[in-house]
Amino acid sequence: MAKLGYVLDDIFVEHIAPSGHPERPARAEAIRDALLAAGIAQRGSHIAPRPATDEELARVHAAGYLDDLSRIVPGNSGWLDADTYFSPGTWNAARAAAGSVAELATSVLSGALDEGIAVVRPPGHHATRDHAMGFCLLNNVAVAAAAARAAGAGKVAIVDWDVHHGNGTQDIFWDDPNVLYASVHQFPYYPGTGAASEIGGAHAKGATVNVGLPAGSTDADYAAVFDHVLVPALVKFAPDLILVSAGFDAFEHDPLAGMRVTRAGFGQMAKRLRAAAGALCAGRIVAVLEGGYDLEGLAGGMTEVLSAFTASAVMPATVALPQLDTLARAAIDGTLAAHADAGLAIPAAESAA
Ligand SMILES: [Zn+2]
Repeated sequence: MAKLGYVLDDIFVEHIAPSGHPERPARAEAIRDALLAAGIAQRGSHIAPRPATDEELARVHAAGYLDDLSRIVPGNSGWLDADTYFSPGTWNAARAAAGSVAELATSVLSGALDEGIAVVRPPGHHATRDHAMGFCLLNNVAVAAAAARAAGAGKVAIVDWDVHHGNGTQDIFWDDPNVLYASVHQFPYYPGTGAASEIGGAHAKGATVNVGLPAGSTDADYAAVFDHVLVPALVKFAPDLILVSAGFDAFEHDPLAGMRVTRAGFGQMAKRLRAAAGALCAGRIVAVLEGGYDLEGLAGGMTEVLSAFTASAVMPATVALPQLDTLARAAIDGTLAAHADAGLAIPAAESAA
């Protein structure tokens, strides 16, 4: 039986939101209750959270930024930008989020675990090297990718299906050919980045992949993006580990975004990545909570990830492009065109003909 490791701890509800803020402790509690009801304690091993070390954080964040955070945030309340609050428990939660995801990633890389799920707060993918933004202080998935690289992974892929573009993760690995950053997101939308033409820096052309979908995109649109862009990009890149920035704000009832993804749609994405991991890197995959502000979407979506990660890895049937809404089709075609001449050009899917 596969060894799933999961991080689920009350330290992440000690990051207390101001009244009415959508990034609130109830998000983690809703997922915890759903995963426990789905039997995660019988299907995997609980991994105790640990704080990220200074060395781990310094791999992806600027020294001056870390100094500022450690001076301003611990034990205090306030705001780092118009969206990003902190409470007295935030610093411990943020360090535990980054450290726990790094621990899962290195444990999966070493084979001590087969796959991982991290239910952590605050989220991370908007945090750049030197800026907190979009509810994010430390970039958890970036810290984990860098930890995996330091532990011997040649190449690490990050797939980000949060409805917002992960500008922070893209920024951190922009010119790194050994970390693939591949995102599908609502576009144009917050934070404004994530155009198809953003494909990586001079040393890493093609190692950044962006698919910006129009509002209203459905399960079939997302599945097609995975079939025709994201999975082919993973095959081309050949990672040693796949990290997933798993936000659930593309959910049909999410209050912050405009997509129409259902619970089953998240399951379809998770199955595709699980199957890709099985084919490419001995199944090594870790899903990390990012956004998602409807409790039903969060609970149902992460339960689908658990189901996909603990079932046998089978790639779902490909969604044919001709079935697609023209706007989603245009987004896919735009990304494929942007990568046509890049060093890591995405091979055209056979069914695209
Ligand atoms: Zn988001």
